[in-house]
Amino acid sequence: MQRISIDKLKLQIHGSSDYALMNRLIGYVPKSFVEAKSITELALYEDEFYNYKPALLLVHVDKQIVQTVIASFPVAEEITFDCYGLKNIYMSGLPKLITFVLLPNPTLESFEMEAPNLKKLTLNLPNLTDKWLHSILSKYPLIESLSLITCKMLKRIKISSDRMKSLTICHCKKLVEVDIAAPNLHKLSYKFGDVISISSNTLALSEVILIFKSNNAPLDAEKIEFLAKLNHPKLLTWIITYVKNVIAPKELRETLRSPSYNVKQLKLTIEHLCEIYEITELVDALLWIFPLLETHFIQWTEDDNRYYNTIHEISFQFSYENHVRKGENLNCCKFLPVSCWRHCLKTIKIEESEASAYVKPLETYFIKNAEILRSIQYSEGLVLLKQDKDQELEL
Ligand SMILES: [Zn+2]
Repeated sequence: MQRISIDKLKLQIHGSSDYALMNRLIGYVPKSFVEAKSITELALYEDEFYNYKPALLLVHVDKQIVQTVIASFPVAEEITFDCYGLKNIYMSGLPKLITFVLLPNPTLESFEMEAPNLKKLTLNLPNLTDKWLHSILSKYPLIESLSLITCKMLKRIKISSDRMKSLTICHCKKLVEVDIAAPNLHKLSYKFGDVISISSNTLALSEVILIFKSNNAPLDAEKIEFLAKLNHPKLLTWIITYVKNVIAPKELRETLRSPSYNVKQLKLTIEHLCEIYEITELVDALLWIFPLLETHFIQWTEDDNRYYNTIHEISFQFSYENHVRKGENLNCCKFLPVSCWRHCLKTIKIEESEASAYVKPLETYFIKNAEILRSIQYSEGLVLLKQDKDQELEL
């Protein structure tokens, strides 16, 4: 075996008191690492379930050393590659490799691995073109999780896979279109980008994480169409900069359909403070986009001073009357196949943390707008509303 040289070998084993296991893991360290000249790091660490797995963290290795390291470590299941400046990666002999993470590499021109079992791929590649990505994806048909981070050249992504379960697109600023034919895709994260066109007939997402590029614009028709194209994920986690980012102008509300009327869970985080006077406007705007939520969580942070941030939270649980006949000529839900919350919201449970001042205006808002609302329950008690005796007895 070729001997290679290393200046620094850093062995990281986090959080284990199992010394027998640690000794066994140290046995994975390739003997050929001894007497090295280049700097590399080898990290062995636990995964999220505290099961140890053989993993490599390659830092500042040159291309001659890569294959030698890999040949010495064929059991690697996970490789994190941080080799800034390297132009080509070629790695063979990785039958057990499941996860490959490429950290930012603006100089890379080619990338090839013989890893027939690769399932999770993260590419942080500013030079990645559409053609290059598609050639990579065609080589690894088992990929279940794909993350594309800061791929500044990407314009159009086409995913066609029965295996793909999770797709993350982050900081891909030239991207205009994603064409997805992946019936098992259940998680989509779209972060720090503009509105893109989504083409898919098969989207059935459980979870979407959404962060548009920061701006102070209100919700426009393009974003409403984007939300509609997500096709009602069960849970939407949405991080916005300002309250106004989710407020659609009146003329759009009157001419477009609520885009996410079948989304049941919403977690909204606002980066800038939500003032008390804004809370009803915020909830009203969100309930236009998501008119039949079951759970709804809103969080925002207030910078009190340099050392202390107050986190404010309000959560709602909504229950609805079944079988509400859709009224005729209703302006609020005229484009929907079902009634909106205004006609069928039956009970609300509100919990808050550091947001008690926000609750009263919300109570007033719901009492005014929910036609058959029977009760609002707070942690400290129940507020019974209008309705006749029979309905109160049912509570
Ligand atoms: Zn309505």
